[in-house]
Amino acid sequence: MDTRLITLAELERGLAGGELVYFYQPKVSLISGRVSGVEALIRWMKPDGSMVLPKEFIPFAEAMGFITTISRAMFPRLIEDMVIINDLSDEITVSFNLSAQDIASPEMVGLIREAIQSSKIDAARLQVEITEDSLISSTDTVVHDNVHELVSLGVKLAMDDYGIGYSSIDTLSRWPFSVVKIDQGLIRRMADSEKSTTIVQASIRMAHQLGIGIVAEGIEAATTYEFLLHSGCTQAQGFWLGRPMPLQDLLAFIRRDQRWSAMPIGLIHMAQLDHIQWRKALIGQVMALSFGKDRASGIREGLAQMDHHHCKLGEWYYGVGQEFKGITAFDQLEEPHRVLHDLGKALLAIAQNGGSREEITAALRALTRQSGIVLELLQDLENEAILKAPALADLADLN
Ligand code: C2E
Ligand code: MG
Ligand code: MG
Repeated sequence: MDTRLITLAELERGLAGGELVYFYQPKVSLISGRVSGVEALIRWMKPDGSMVLPKEFIPFAEAMGFITTISRAMFPRLIEDMVIINDLSDEITVSFNLSAQDIASPEMVGLIREAIQSSKIDAARLQVEITEDSLISSTDTVVHDNVHELVSLGVKLAMDDYGIGYSSIDTLSRWPFSVVKIDQGLIRRMADSEKSTTIVQASIRMAHQLGIGIVAEGIEAATTYEFLLHSGCTQAQGFWLGRPMPLQDLLAFIRRDQRWSAMPIGLIHMAQLDHIQWRKALIGQVMALSFGKDRASGIREGLAQMDHHHCKLGEWYYGVGQEFKGITAFDQLEEPHRVLHDLGKALLAIAQNGGSREEITAALRALTRQSGIVLELLQDLENEAILKAPALADLADLN
């Protein structure tokens, strides 16, 4: 690449001449072990055959107020490519990056709305990646309205580069994200920083608690992939899995139907924690009812969900957990979990009806005994899953 500074006139000519193109990088599901998404990443292909990476011209385009012109011009091509990708596989989500200015402009949202309303694409398979700085400084109601319109159209919102901003957690809690992408710097630093590892694990746990998906970016080695499987991460992206590539190469990549290891043991840990939290919340409720603990002044632990399909463990069991179907411990878990909820309801009813201390103690014992059975099955499931998971050496051989 030449090192001269880019001028706006050059960029305008490049855009008009069709020199800006999308490359696509695959994302792999840690649950199915297959390609489950792709990210569109812009490239400037110069007539002399050289390729300019986005960091060389996107910040410049943003500074010149030209980025939305680029995004608008590129969008129809993204949709054309998405139609081709979706024809090949109906499991793949296509994501693309928008800058703060795009999110603040009515034009991009208008284009996205038109594409969805003309039924060219399925909104649920379109994902917009934005970084928190697109939202954080914004008190602008336009940004708020645009983001909420995208979500109401059915488009998924992903927070890009999570973990390097100033208040990512706050941003995450205030905006309707359905995915977080953990920053690749954090992922890379895990190799030599225990603190980064802790931050990644805590981020995964938090996203899980919020019920949103987690993509880890920048996977460059089998060991990182393996670690993420154990941590409960749901999707991975990185050079080790596949580099950004032109559409035709991506189509060939998808057709190869490659499989990566997918025994997400971390998801079992999430289920164990979910169950313990549920039990804690329920016992807290019973204590408050029976012994008058003043809950109004304390931090709310939340009410335990009594429907066994809709507690966190139930959502896991009937949702992503189904990946473990066929493993004995998983298949055996359904009935004891249902019984556990019956015991929970009985305990709560005793407490609500002013039952005696003895009655409450007996019902509590029955509940904790049943909880022990559920946790034991989850432990068995983990042991069985570990035995089934391929060794790290096999993983490394895959690529
Ligand atoms: P991003 O959205 O966080 O995209 C991920 C970047 O990480 C991409 O760089 C990708 O090539 C790179 N990457 C992926 N896996 C690995 C890995 O294992 N190791 C390493 N070292 N890098 C990896 P790229 O394509 O150079 O894009 C850089 C940034 O430019 C993007 O970061 C995004 O913020 C921006 N960008 C790219 N395309 C567009 C676009 O169409 N519009 C806007 N507004 N921004 C874009
Ligand atoms: Mg991105
Ligand atoms: Mg990123």
